[in-house]
Amino acid sequence: MTPLPGRSCDGCTTCCSVPAIEAAGFSKPPSVACAHCTGSGCAIYDLRPAPCRAFECGWQVLPIIPEALKPDRSGVLVVADEAAPPGYASATAIKFIFITDASIASLPLLECIAGLVHARAAVFAAAPGPAGHHSLKTLLNPRIEHAVEQRDAAGIALTLASIVAKLRDGPFERAS
Ligand code: SF4
Ligand code: SF4
Repeated sequence: MTPLPGRSCDGCTTCCSVPAIEAAGFSKPPSVACAHCTGSGCAIYDLRPAPCRAFECGWQVLPIIPEALKPDRSGVLVVADEAAPPGYASATAIKFIFITDASIASLPLLECIAGLVHARAAVFAAAPGPAGHHSLKTLLNPRIEHAVEQRDAAGIALTLASIVAKLRDGPFERAS
């Protein structure tokens, strides 16, 4: 997908550290900065492996993700997740990976999540694991649907913070 106007990485390197990247002759564990990351970009950009080329950053390509959620500023990385449970509007879920809590109670984030849940999209919250471990995720919809329908932003924020805090306790599975 083509990035939305104005949604350039511009110094962000979040996707060069949070996800695992596996390709022929290339392996980067989850929650570890890539050896080719300069801190503000990719030292091998023209030769970067296929998963890096194919990566779709929710902030860059999804109009429903607000400008305020740029990953390096917000502490949240948004990605598509193939594992939407049955009964939701789309087979693809949206996953919010909370690297920090910087935006967890912010109105742009809460309004975005509430809009997705109201539209019956499956929404996951996730916490990255420690270096070399997979992230943990949980489906948000059943936990916040009532607060969303009540337009209870404070209730959504409290539940979300509690879910993410619990996810951070693990247990996290070590990447092979
Ligand atoms: S997370 Fe998104 S904005 Fe940040 S470097 Fe990756 S693609 Fe660019
Ligand atoms: S190869 Fe480049 S684009 Fe891919 S993770 Fe490493 S620094 Fe990022």
